[in-house]
Amino acid sequence: MSAPARTILHVDLDAFYAAVEQRDDPALRGRPVLVGGSARRGVVASCSYEARVFGIHSAMPMAEALRRCRHAVVVKHRMERYVDASRGFFAILGDYSPEVEGLSLDEAFLDLTGSERLLGPPRGVAEVIKARVRQELALVASVGVAPIKLAAKIASDIDKPDGLRIVTPEDLLPFLHGLPVGRLWGVGEATRGVLATMGLSTIGDVARYPERALVGRLGPVTGRHLAALARGEDARGVEPEREAVTIGHRETFEDDIDDPGELTVTLLGQADRVASRLRDAELRARAVILTIKYDDFREITRRTTLDAPTSDGAVLARVAIELLGKVPIEPREGGRVRLCGLTATGLEPRQAPRQLQFDEAARAKGERLGDTLDRVAAKFGRGLIKRAVHLPDEDGD
Ligand SMILES: [Mg+2]
Repeated sequence: MSAPARTILHVDLDAFYAAVEQRDDPALRGRPVLVGGSARRGVVASCSYEARVFGIHSAMPMAEALRRCRHAVVVKHRMERYVDASRGFFAILGDYSPEVEGLSLDEAFLDLTGSERLLGPPRGVAEVIKARVRQELALVASVGVAPIKLAAKIASDIDKPDGLRIVTPEDLLPFLHGLPVGRLWGVGEATRGVLATMGLSTIGDVARYPERALVGRLGPVTGRHLAALARGEDARGVEPEREAVTIGHRETFEDDIDDPGELTVTLLGQADRVASRLRDAELRARAVILTIKYDDFREITRRTTLDAPTSDGAVLARVAIELLGKVPIEPREGGRVRLCGLTATGLEPRQAPRQLQFDEAARAKGERLGDTLDRVAAKFGRGLIKRAVHLPDEDGD
């Protein structure tokens, strides 16, 4: 590696939703807490460390979790509290680097490269961030520091909860090589199975294996990707421009599309899905992003900030369709569309104090209609529901 070593922090709050619930309600402290949608149905969104002792983990069906631990307390998620805590978390992180890339409400990368003279060694920064999260938010953060993103993320996870692990440039390869291959970014169940049949179980095994043979078994993209990661090469930078929290839906088409009408239909469906997820999470979006990827893999995004935040699918759809109208789509190579996506961002809790506006009634009605659609969809399936969208007139709306 010729480039100077980077210093990347990965900060991750421990058992985030469950920790917020235990913080807000002392009666829950020290007890196995399962956070989910409705009690006894659905999956575990987050669980306290007291629950993990029973082998419970997030994404486990709630029924299964309760079989494992009958006395667990089930709490309904309160997204507005988590969004609020997340805002405080990102405010703290922003004091240490302008380069903060949020991965979710409770997880982010920071690039501290070159800031040592100003802030001191990265261990000190990590300790201060952990202390401030504890004092200001009454939550616990685990931090990993490493020269590459892959290792920083693993390092934050390895000593959880309340972890702090520093991987120096000299430590990077010994650290990675002792870990199971499943820790490599992009290795799922299937790839792990193939690697196992090749006798490769640790990252070190992959690093020592001839790259050409890896490519032969896994194909050029995966083979080279894994060989490079196993050598400690992960060129991904911290991308601060990425918005911390988004809810989106994207679709890759079987055949490339050059008909804007067809894309409009796709966007209508995506808008309803995104709006439904916003309402599930009790959030509203302040901005809409349209993503278009062409058949030559060029990707463009277009964004509109809304006058007022919404979780109304009709509003999201109308804005996305307006954005689509400004994007060239042509029946020629490089002009056809292979992927279309709609993303809601600038998220805020639905209960956020907001100035009452004269179109408040219309928005409330749109969101209530959305709630009804959600219930109908839950009962009969989403495929049956079509929404009539009021498209803008030629001369503006
Ligand atoms: Mg976390």
